[in-house]
Amino acid sequence: MSSSVKPSAGRFAPSPTGPLHLGSLIAALGSYLVARKSGRRWLLRVDDLDRPRVVEGAAAGILRLLEELGFEWDGTPLWQSERDDRYAEILQQLKNKGLVYPCSCTRREILGSAPHLGEEGPVYPGTCRQGPAGQRQELAWRLQVDQHPISFCDGLFGDHQQNLQQEVGDFVLFRSDGLFAYQLATVVDDLDSGVDQVVRGADLLSSTARQIYLYRCLDSEPPEYLHLPLVLGLDGKKISKRHGELGVVRSDNGSEMMRFALNFLNQPLPAELNGSPATQMLDWALEFFDESLLERAQKSLPELQENL
Ligand SMILES: [Zn+2]
Repeated sequence: MSSSVKPSAGRFAPSPTGPLHLGSLIAALGSYLVARKSGRRWLLRVDDLDRPRVVEGAAAGILRLLEELGFEWDGTPLWQSERDDRYAEILQQLKNKGLVYPCSCTRREILGSAPHLGEEGPVYPGTCRQGPAGQRQELAWRLQVDQHPISFCDGLFGDHQQNLQQEVGDFVLFRSDGLFAYQLATVVDDLDSGVDQVVRGADLLSSTARQIYLYRCLDSEPPEYLHLPLVLGLDGKKISKRHGELGVVRSDNGSEMMRFALNFLNQPLPAELNGSPATQMLDWALEFFDESLLERAQKSLPELQENL
């Protein structure tokens, strides 16, 4: 499973759980500019793995908008919902290596048995390592982690370290509801597509150590990571559906949103391009994007409420 046979690539992987949001536009823009500036391909992937959360028509709407805004991706987009066979194959490889095990624990049982809470909920204490401990028929599959801390250097957030055993526990690759987990799918897809540079929102910083661990279990090299700050609303929370229409990218505000996204990434768009079509701003950015300016990118933009 070497990624070296494919030309290097970055990617954008939106989840079609609603319309394109400013936060996603920033991730698209950041990954696009960093990839293109480094001579990489830029791939598009639809993360529609979590079927119950997928909104019908959302993926088509996101792709159409990206095209309108001037993004040009390489090849055809990959749809995670069409990749179950491949994920199953990789899960089988991990089973053959004895690295995963079935778990019968319910959410409530885990809450009751977890010694402490990690960054993303209760730390799974390994209850089912010797075999499913409960009665539930629907089994999840967990990847056994070890005690060695995972270290990586993020392109923007710098050095990070996480001890998976202490802070996460053995984590789920296949869910008890029959769906493959995000962590497995994203690593398999990035590997298969030759993605060696991941630029995405900082809400995924806490998933990175798990993904690096998974790469190692698959005898593969992890990509470089660069996490972008999140756009926050006036309430200090990440801009999302709970903020209603605020931050939703549409055809009629594409130019304004693109200007805002470039501003957020700390790229000094010339004043004469203010109000010009998004495609023109994107052309300017492809030429003049300066990755070193990302370091001083804003962490939150309180004026968001009034301006959009
Ligand atoms: Zn269990």
